[in-house]
Amino acid sequence: MELREIGEFGFIDRLKPRFDNLLSNSLIGIGDDCAVIPANEHEDWVVTTDMLIEGVHFIRESITPEELGYKCLAVNLSDIASMGAMPMGSFLSIAIPTSISVEYLDEFMDGYLKLSEFYHTPLLGGDTTRSLQHLAINIVAIGKCAKGEAKMRSHGMVGDIVAVTGNLGDSAAGLQLILKGIKETVDHSTLIEKHHAPHPRILEGQFFSGKASVHAMMDISDGIGSDLYHLLRGSRLGAIVNLECLPLSEELKRVSEQNGWDPLDLAVGGGEDYELLLTIAADDFVKLNHQFASTFGHPLYPIGSLIKGEPLIDWRLSNKTHSMAQKGFNHFSL
Ligand code: ADP
Ligand code: MG
Repeated sequence: MELREIGEFGFIDRLKPRFDNLLSNSLIGIGDDCAVIPANEHEDWVVTTDMLIEGVHFIRESITPEELGYKCLAVNLSDIASMGAMPMGSFLSIAIPTSISVEYLDEFMDGYLKLSEFYHTPLLGGDTTRSLQHLAINIVAIGKCAKGEAKMRSHGMVGDIVAVTGNLGDSAAGLQLILKGIKETVDHSTLIEKHHAPHPRILEGQFFSGKASVHAMMDISDGIGSDLYHLLRGSRLGAIVNLECLPLSEELKRVSEQNGWDPLDLAVGGGEDYELLLTIAADDFVKLNHQFASTFGHPLYPIGSLIKGEPLIDWRLSNKTHSMAQKGFNHFSL
């Protein structure tokens, strides 16, 4: 069988059950944004790892080394944020082709350090090796949260409001501009910056941590078409999503119009927004959103609700069911 027949998630589904009986009751392993490991009577630790490969996740010539260093850590801290946890440290493993200079690596580490300093997250170790051709970077990030308080994908409840913390599709549009070599304007640099320097929503994750009405949470790395589906599988529920409620930036709308792109396709199927996707008890939503807006200067964006049923998304446009071709990013997909 070829890997593309089952995709990245099919592979994970095959390996997970083979290791399940090695898990003790108190450990949460494969299936969420982070594993959850009991640390002491007050705290759990959360651990995640994400890899970025040249030519697959980034084009070396189109991202500065500083942005790349920043982004590699950012995507890992985003998974820490999605559990409502505080980052504690990271490990960096890097395979370096001989075409890369010491100056390049210094700048890469400048970007990595900038984000590490922002969240007081030390680099705790790693591994350095030679690569025959491509630059490959793997990071492990560790965080902590109050015992039993990690926000899981699997805790959604029927009737919850599904919400996101910010605009969707900007990063995917930025990637298209890079890939197609489309000429720079102010709108373009905003979108490309969203792609190259996403900000992990650590503070937002902290805000949701400990709030009982916030049930399920994850970060948006592959596009909501894919990520919400994973949340639904975890929570064993379905969802209705109103496409007109997806938050789209003015830059995305203008650039989509200029290039004949459908901004909804980019918002649903494009990855790497690194916003948080969460589900909230409907009767607390207005109060929570008010508190969120006064803390962060902008509201949460409710996009739909959880319903009983199969883990499927009922996309609606003008109250009518709407079929979405885009399903989100999946390595090895056909
Ligand atoms: P995320 O997008 O949040 O980083 P992924 O979609 O990459 O999560 O992975 C989904 C889940 O599968 C996570 O719990 C992750 O740890 C796990 N996973 C992915 N690849 C592997 C692997 N090769 N071995 C074990 N677990 C894996
Ligand atoms: Mg994630």
